[in-house]
Amino acid sequence: MNLILLGPPGCGKGTQAARLKEKYGVIPLSTGDMLRAAVAAGTDVGKKAKAIMEAGQLVPDDVVVGVIAERIGQPDVQKQGFVLDGFPRTVAQAKSLDQMMEKRGWKLDHIIEMKVDEQALFARIDKRARETVAAGGAVRADDNAETLKKRIVVYREQTQPILPYYAKAGRLESVDGMAPIDDVTKQLEGIVTKG
Ligand code: AMP
Repeated sequence: MNLILLGPPGCGKGTQAARLKEKYGVIPLSTGDMLRAAVAAGTDVGKKAKAIMEAGQLVPDDVVVGVIAERIGQPDVQKQGFVLDGFPRTVAQAKSLDQMMEKRGWKLDHIIEMKVDEQALFARIDKRARETVAAGGAVRADDNAETLKKRIVVYREQTQPILPYYAKAGRLESVDGMAPIDDVTKQLEGIVTKG
């Protein structure tokens, strides 16, 4: 089973992707996590991405598409399927993904938008930063109110046009991302188990 979770930064995609993995074995593929790992490792991709990520902007499509194309070719993803979190983020990325799927003879089983309101996002990101500090971890360089505002503008301008791209083709489903976490999980399970 191959899934996409769509929604603005902080809407809970990562949390729900982890739960979908537990229940269905699908592998969460977070381009944000992959890029952060590349930055930490100092790879060429990481060098290209670092400043862009810190500014809350989007890493170029060809770089991100390359990262995803490589990852989905690996055996665990081929065997267990995937849940994309944070990709695609532009219509060009969505089109590249469609091409990748077609080439492999795979399909996207569910493309699910998590609907949330923007005020809630600020509160969530703030909570995520505080919890990380309390646990002794390092807060993400882009998890602060100022960068979040930019990331939300970028979402509106560059990522939201993906929604009509999928909706027009009758491929878009949605859940209420404002519901309690367990309820969101139940809504997602309802979608993926209906086939
Ligand atoms: P995330 O962890 O999904 O919030 O992503 C963190 C940052 O990584 C974003 O603000 C972007 O700078 C970059 N990024 C992650 N995924 C993508 C993508 N699909 N396209 C472009 N940039 C991305």
